[in-house]
Amino acid sequence: MDLKDKVVLVTGSSRGIGLAIAKAFAQRGAKIVLNARKPIAPEVLAEFEQFATPVIDISADVTNPESVKDMIVQIIAQFGQLDVVVNNAGINKDGLLNRMSEDDFNAVLQTNLVGTFNVIRQALRPMYKRRSGCFINLASVVGLTGNIGQANYAASKAGIIGLTKSVAKEAALRNLRCNAIAPGMIDTQMTEALSEKRQEEIAQQIPLKRFGKIEEVAETAVFLAQNDYITGQVITVDGGLTMQ
Ligand code: NDP
Repeated sequence: MDLKDKVVLVTGSSRGIGLAIAKAFAQRGAKIVLNARKPIAPEVLAEFEQFATPVIDISADVTNPESVKDMIVQIIAQFGQLDVVVNNAGINKDGLLNRMSEDDFNAVLQTNLVGTFNVIRQALRPMYKRRSGCFINLASVVGLTGNIGQANYAASKAGIIGLTKSVAKEAALRNLRCNAIAPGMIDTQMTEALSEKRQEEIAQQIPLKRFGKIEEVAETAVFLAQNDYITGQVITVDGGLTMQ
């Protein structure tokens, strides 16, 4: 897919990986829809001026199907089409299983897995009509391996992998593609929550001995959008952490 003038929605793009993905697509001349629960900060919007491509911001909570439906309607009203959907919005509420509340388990499932489903379901109709486009879902290496203290997060990300493969099979009938990216440890607000000592310990377990950069995840999303013959895949971006 040539990304020039394509319409790209990136959920959860107010910061971190989502923002880097939105910038990587903007750099290729795509029209960008930014999203988070709250309006995107003016200084973040200003960072897109350098790309000279249309950028809109739609506040919507991916856990709310009505809010997601309105977002897709607004995108079609504004741009007339939707070509790439990056399901990036995600949260974590870590804790050991015996101390994990039902609320913390459900909240993570709702945002990460059900949120991804909500967006795909609403975006499918306009994308089916055009018989082109793709979905890119942010999973995680812990969705492949599991992790202590992350039962909710790992379950949500494993669910995203199953969802990705099912969408890939179903939507291929209308020439749509669906892939997942499974990042390892990436430098963002999510990983900054770990102590410096813990970050160093984890880095030592990674073959490349460092956390990944948000741009390294973003370039993977661009690659998956551009290559029209890749679907149903989970690409790990993890410095070798989970290689077999
Ligand atoms: P951040 O916490 O930095 O950003 C998360 C984004 O999602 C924010 O823009 C946030 O904005 C938005 N968001 C959260 N909940 C919702 C919601 N219900 N509806 C709409 N937007 C929402 O996360 P990262 O950049 O670190 O991670 C991005 C993705 O990559 C996530 O899916 C994460 O699980 C995954 N990932 C990250 C890794 C890492 O090392 N950082 C590793 C593996 C996977 P707001 O709160 O304002 O709504």
